[in-house]
Amino acid sequence: MIPYGRQNISKDDIDSVVTVLKSDWLTQGAMVPSFEAGLCKLTGAKNAIVVSNATAALHLACLALGLGQNDTLWTSPNTFVASANCARYCGADVDFVDIDIETGNMSVLALQSKLEQADKKGALPKILVSVHFAGQSCDMQQIKKLSEKYGFKIIEDAAHAVGGTYKKQAIGSCQFSDITIFSFHPVKIITTGEGGALLCNDQKIADKLERLRSHGITKDTLLMQGQSEGEWCYEQIELGYNYRMTDIQAALGQSQLSRIQEFVRKRSSLASRYSEILQGLKVIPLEQISNSISAWHLYVVRLQETTIEKSEIFSRLRQQGVGVQVHYIPVHLQPYYKNLGFKLGDYPQAEKYYRQAISLPLYPDLSFEQQDYVVKTLDKVLS
Ligand SMILES: *Cc1c(COP(=O)(O)O)cnc(C)c1O
Repeated sequence: MIPYGRQNISKDDIDSVVTVLKSDWLTQGAMVPSFEAGLCKLTGAKNAIVVSNATAALHLACLALGLGQNDTLWTSPNTFVASANCARYCGADVDFVDIDIETGNMSVLALQSKLEQADKKGALPKILVSVHFAGQSCDMQQIKKLSEKYGFKIIEDAAHAVGGTYKKQAIGSCQFSDITIFSFHPVKIITTGEGGALLCNDQKIADKLERLRSHGITKDTLLMQGQSEGEWCYEQIELGYNYRMTDIQAALGQSQLSRIQEFVRKRSSLASRYSEILQGLKVIPLEQISNSISAWHLYVVRLQETTIEKSEIFSRLRQQGVGVQVHYIPVHLQPYYKNLGFKLGDYPQAEKYYRQAISLPLYPDLSFEQQDYVVKTLDKVLS
């Protein structure tokens, strides 16, 4: 089976992990800050905080921006459930903004009109999570303008977009947001096994994130309330978690990071090749906007009207060794969210998109022969 995504692990990756395994520090050593410095260099952000996974990153981002009960977080229905769940961890409500079917990203027009209505009702969101679907940035400049008008905070969920750019700036620069989060799950652009990161430019937020990652504990005497009784002293000043990344993972991440441009270049050239060889088939690739360079986490096509059901097309492709996937079942249609009151028909564009979308295999080591086989098989199945 040709999978839809796959990690690329080099000898250098293995060597750097082994080096940490032979060292004194498997966690809380020097590799974590070193990987964080690498992420700052990649993105231009002032601060990077790595954590155990991107779901933990989203949770901490919401906490650091003060999300709590009686607050609402808005996100896209076309995303992984974690983009919405983070609000529920904080006791806050979730609402969704419909998508632009051509890109799969949140529609800025839908956002604008939903904000106008929410403003009249005094029900504006506290946080907007903008998801850079498939690796392509949302129109962050427009979203930032709206955030200034309506006073909400912005978290960029860039789980798909590590290594991409928007208006010539690296994704993660946080030029148009408060916090950006990355995922290092093996299907994403670079991997640490499990892992995630938060990027931001505000030192206060960065300090809080670092504290929340490790139980809410500080050793900073300026923040401590009592008199220090000795060098062993630390204080827990708020409720945090153990969301730390190990040094074993950070070593893998640091080594992977040195090849990120190569990974994105390969994904991008395979994506261009897909667009060429898919011509003539009854499928529509995602539209690319002019001011963004995608990191190409996914290559999604929308199936045009055919007599064959999508489930039939999907299973025939799988039977013939083409490991297709679907991104995403709209989050509001998950039973958990239906129980909160969401229903079919709430976000028609995301629902229509879902009926059509199918993700084709895309990863740096996908060969041209495999790619040709994917397209040939799809052609056969569709005709
Ligand atoms: C993968 C993913 C996440 C969660 O990442 P983990 O590191 O697996 O927790 C969050 N948001 C999006 C859009 C994702 O694709």
